[in-house]
Amino acid sequence: MSTPATADLIAIGQHYYLPVYRPRELILERGQGSRLWDRDGNEYVDLAAGIAVCGLGHNDPDLVAALTEQAGKLWHTSNIFYSEPPLRLAEELVNASRFATRVYLCNSGAEANEAAIKLIRKWATAQGRGPERRTIVTFRGSFHGRTLAAVTATAQPKYHEGYEPLPGGFRYADFNDIAQLEEAMAAGDVAAVMVEPIQGEGGVMPAAEGFLKAVRELCDRHGALLALDEIQCGMGRTGTLFAHWQDGVVPDIVTLAKALGGGFPIGAMLVGPKAAEVMQFGAHGSTFGGNPLAAAVARAALRKLSSPQIAANVQRQSGALRAGLADLNDELGVFSELRGRGLMLGAVLAEAYRGRAGEILNAAAKRGLLLLQAGPDVLRFVPALNIGDDDVVEGLQRLKAGLHEFLSK
Ligand SMILES: *Cc1c(COP(=O)(O)O)cnc(C)c1O
Repeated sequence: MSTPATADLIAIGQHYYLPVYRPRELILERGQGSRLWDRDGNEYVDLAAGIAVCGLGHNDPDLVAALTEQAGKLWHTSNIFYSEPPLRLAEELVNASRFATRVYLCNSGAEANEAAIKLIRKWATAQGRGPERRTIVTFRGSFHGRTLAAVTATAQPKYHEGYEPLPGGFRYADFNDIAQLEEAMAAGDVAAVMVEPIQGEGGVMPAAEGFLKAVRELCDRHGALLALDEIQCGMGRTGTLFAHWQDGVVPDIVTLAKALGGGFPIGAMLVGPKAAEVMQFGAHGSTFGGNPLAAAVARAALRKLSSPQIAANVQRQSGALRAGLADLNDELGVFSELRGRGLMLGAVLAEAYRGRAGEILNAAAKRGLLLLQAGPDVLRFVPALNIGDDDVVEGLQRLKAGLHEFLSK
């Protein structure tokens, strides 16, 4: 598939990059909507969206206009000076959130969670709680980012190995197990529970019905904050702008990133009235956070991603994708379960194919389909929220071709 020149370019990455990633052997060059083209002219249906980032697909005209207009005006001021795009974005995020009173803007998901962890500790400090009573509970299978505190919050040993000593003050419980959480909070030393409404990297695992409500109740009973990591499941992906709207809970903190900038790096921590005033002048900061370019793009993305048209398309394409995957499975018997909400779907590989998601992704890419996995056993579907009927149909067809090839091996 690769011309010599492409192989040469890939060799540069293999030689010079810190080898923490193992990208598929193609070089993407251009995108339009939910289609991508590599430098050798091959076309792909994109059901990965840059890991749930390109919520409006590629080359969205409104995002391009917001970016280029701002690019001609002002790129960066730092937070020592005001500029209009982040001011507007902060106001719009608060208004859209239905719970927050303040926003902290940063550049990525890990940074948003890092800010949340620090805010939780400041809040506990302000309550007169010593360091031993500032514990944060997170759930096995979670993913909260790669910085040292965020990765410690990430309750998966594979992300911790070799990075010890890890920061203290974290405790883990099984996801969707309220009895275990109750036990984890019984000592009265918990300052917050941090949870993804739908675990993403951990296998596209939704919170069970009523789980978040029960978590909220336990937090209230034990004087703890509820922090929701909506970095992957937020920004309209599950059919509502915020995933937790469907769980009927009011959080104290929500973190966002990924689709917030539609492909331009930006993160945000939204804070409700209980904790919004605990971090004061000098308590935290970021040189780039709320950069005018990022904020201008995020405003356009927020406006579009919160529209009824997007919500309707998420419902429609979620149904189409689910139905198509179920049909595929009737024929091929490769999945044991389909789970998720909206356009955040996971197909769990049947027993016989466990551990082989990566091989399926390779076969799919060869057939012109870009897909993700969520661990070795789950195919993850997180396409753009404005994906069209044709893209879904074509994507499913290519998946079928890829699966046939995979099964024939
Ligand atoms: C991707 C992700 C993060 C980390 O975001 P980065 O921008 O990669 O730092 C945190 N939490 C969840 C749920 C994510 O999916």
